[in-house]
Amino acid sequence: MILIVDDKPENIFSLKTILELHSFPTDTALSGEEALKKILKKSYALIILDVQMPGMDGFEVAEAISGYSKARDIPILFLSAASTDKKFITKGYSAGAMDYITKPIDPDILLLKVKTFYRLYQQNQELNLIQASLRSEIEFRKKVEGELQERAVELHSILESIPQIAFTTSADGKIDYVNEKWLDFSSSKHEFPPTHPDDNVDLAREWQRTVASGKALELEIRVHPRDSSEYRYHLLRAIPVREGENITKWVGTFTDIDDQKQAVKRKDEFISIASHELKTPLTTIKAYVQLLDRSIGPDEPSRMYVERTLVQVQKLDTLIVDLLDLSKIESGKLKFNKRPFVFESILADAVEMIRQTYPDYTIVRKGRADVEVFGDETRIEQVVLNYLTNAVKYSPDQKEVQIETGVQPDGQVFVRVKDYGIGISKEHQQNIFGKFYRVDEAAGKFQGLGIGLYICAEVIRRHEGVYGVESAPGQGSTFYFCVPIGSKT
Ligand code: ADP
Repeated sequence: MILIVDDKPENIFSLKTILELHSFPTDTALSGEEALKKILKKSYALIILDVQMPGMDGFEVAEAISGYSKARDIPILFLSAASTDKKFITKGYSAGAMDYITKPIDPDILLLKVKTFYRLYQQNQELNLIQASLRSEIEFRKKVEGELQERAVELHSILESIPQIAFTTSADGKIDYVNEKWLDFSSSKHEFPPTHPDDNVDLAREWQRTVASGKALELEIRVHPRDSSEYRYHLLRAIPVREGENITKWVGTFTDIDDQKQAVKRKDEFISIASHELKTPLTTIKAYVQLLDRSIGPDEPSRMYVERTLVQVQKLDTLIVDLLDLSKIESGKLKFNKRPFVFESILADAVEMIRQTYPDYTIVRKGRADVEVFGDETRIEQVVLNYLTNAVKYSPDQKEVQIETGVQPDGQVFVRVKDYGIGISKEHQQNIFGKFYRVDEAAGKFQGLGIGLYICAEVIRRHEGVYGVESAPGQGSTFYFCVPIGSKT
């Protein structure tokens, strides 16, 4: 809007007509005082101001305007009588006005100047808008940066307080913070501590891979303090910190797990030594008891004791063999003697053995597997026996066990052992193939070490097969495995 200020209505009329003809919206004031009132209320793009007016003249009005912070930037176009007012023009400029036009007014020049001012006004408005949005953007960023800074400080003080080596990196994996403990292990704040040569891990490369994958890292490695050459096992864990979909940074720790590692190693060594040491005298005991068994007549009263001793010796033997197997798996020394064998024959043997050992149980056979399988016969039979023994053991009140076998369409031979016993809840099912895992509720009632299924799992894995369990508490369980027939590996 353009404000035309003139004491003569006819002048106002002609100016208004010219401007409105060219689509400029206008407002009018017949005196300086009225103009000032209007300027205070509304905002204008331009003020066309007659210099000679009774009361406040144009220059006085301009000077007053320059004192208003809201209006001081509005351009002013003075209307001056050609000869008389020119000497005042410089005064006009110094009061903040921007141009003048002499009377009588040439409409073309008027329009030219008005258009220029109007464009300037519009550009100014746009610039003001841009400036305002930039200012709020800067404010926003400052706020976010401040918050981030606060969070980083908080995170760093947490990482400083923990006993682990800790670090954070930017989203692209560059280390941007390390705690004090880090410097006990690495000479640089930007490089990972060196690892044991036997670990065969290039941490920098491993880290690049992790960052590229966007997935958490968990790695056991050995690092040593800078003031000692003794390497200690550490668990390196690093997780990405996300905001929505995006990773904004990574946080990682190295936890010293050397003591646990050594304890596990000592325990494994103990199990290995103890089971070896127990095995030798037990073999001798077993041999003598068997001799005794054969030398006692069928009607001798002591026969029953000898037979019971033999059963217990057999149980002890199985336990010790399992413990020996466990140590072999741990040390990577469980050997497999693979060659072709008829699958059906091991099933028949295993079922026969269970029937003899547990005569009060009914073992129902379903299907046949008359195929030749390439694998370790004894180990596969061990798995079948283990499944069957467990099925009997964990179903004290339901004396039927089913064993189903056959060849799957994909060419794998399968075995499913079903019992109607105590069953296993979902949460335990995923763990029972783990080492020493026993279901708490059952552990009190049934004896065992929790290593049978662990060995089964290893045997099936080493035959490139699949194993698992389907079960529900109180409903019985079905343990299954399948192995490829022709695998030569
Ligand atoms: P163990 O029988 O010596 O404890 P296993 O490794 O053979 O060790 O079995 C691990 C655990 O799995 C057992 O302690 C038992 O809780 C559970 N389990 C195994 N077989 C069965 C089954 N047929 N029914 C119910 N629970 C079973």
